[in-house]
Amino acid sequence: MPRSVKAAVQWEIGQKWTVEEVELADPIGDEVLVEVKACGLCHSDDHNITGDAPSAVPVVGGHEASGIVRAIGPAVNRVQVGDRVVLVATPFCGKCAYCATGRGALCDQNAFVMKGHAPEGHYRFTKDGTGIGSYAQVGGFAEWTVMSQTQVIKIDDDIPFEVAAIVACGIATGYGSSVNVAGVRPGDTVVVVGVGGVGVGAVQGAVIAGAASVIAVDPLAPRRDAVMRFGATHAVATLEEAGAILATETRGVMAESVILTASVVPGTLIGMASDLVAKGGKLVVTGVVPWRERNIPINVSAFLMYGRTLGGNVWGFTHTYDDLPRIFKLYRAGRLKIDEMVTRTYPLHEVNEGYADMHAGVNTRGVLVF
Ligand SMILES: [Zn+2]
Ligand SMILES: [Zn+2]
Repeated sequence: MPRSVKAAVQWEIGQKWTVEEVELADPIGDEVLVEVKACGLCHSDDHNITGDAPSAVPVVGGHEASGIVRAIGPAVNRVQVGDRVVLVATPFCGKCAYCATGRGALCDQNAFVMKGHAPEGHYRFTKDGTGIGSYAQVGGFAEWTVMSQTQVIKIDDDIPFEVAAIVACGIATGYGSSVNVAGVRPGDTVVVVGVGGVGVGAVQGAVIAGAASVIAVDPLAPRRDAVMRFGATHAVATLEEAGAILATETRGVMAESVILTASVVPGTLIGMASDLVAKGGKLVVTGVVPWRERNIPINVSAFLMYGRTLGGNVWGFTHTYDDLPRIFKLYRAGRLKIDEMVTRTYPLHEVNEGYADMHAGVNTRGVLVF
């Protein structure tokens, strides 16, 4: 039987979230019904408010979540009723060429991620007969959600729901930016630009990978203070300051990796940051580039002659069934500080307040709890 659930819905791009009752369908095919326990307030959903990189609307927000499986469709074979699970924005179909070669973050099923409706065309959420999409096919800003088992992974009983939720995107994307995409090596110098939740994940990934020096750049003072507790060796407000530190500390060699985890990454930022990259180094773009952007003002000759590379990044190239268990092991061992990243929790009806706090920089990560 379809059920009535409270959810945070955005009806038009630019509007804030409204918390209201919507109808949720029963799971069919490979879908699971999940009682949501926690969902992180990631910057990505907020791009629907600013319009930088919007999804289809209307939509139930939320894409880094956790919960308990309460019912399963007839084709489900990866999880069972009662399993504690993490809900991720990136599918792992297991059948496409990318999944088959260990690059599940590029799974062909990603083609449907921002469309709102399920790949088969139906909507899981409705209101008075109108279909409402699920952000990233997750729809975690809701008491209950229905989604494909390709984005649902069982977790152990000792992992708190808030921790699992921010591992789903903030940690996976940030940590993976350093460990998987940049390929940070022991002794590297790393610059991380923008240290909200994803950036703090990138800083921690760089530290765990053995970076000798991690320079965090953020214009917001509370974030600069916070990031020093996660292993950054420097925290500065501007790229110019980071460049001055690099010039001195590396004697002009500069950074082996520069990782752009700012929430919005315009082409101008990519161009400016390229000057901080060492010969043979990598510039990783993790933050959202405005979807209309077509230009990167860059010294192309220097970039190429210095053997620099520009790395695109989806979900930190995290491998669902290899990296996520490793991340939880690092958390248990106390080496990946995730509890400390959950700065504040909010009830669902305070979702807009949570995002206001994110913009003010007072949260490393705010999390909705149910
Ligand atoms: Zn996210
Ligand atoms: Zn796939």
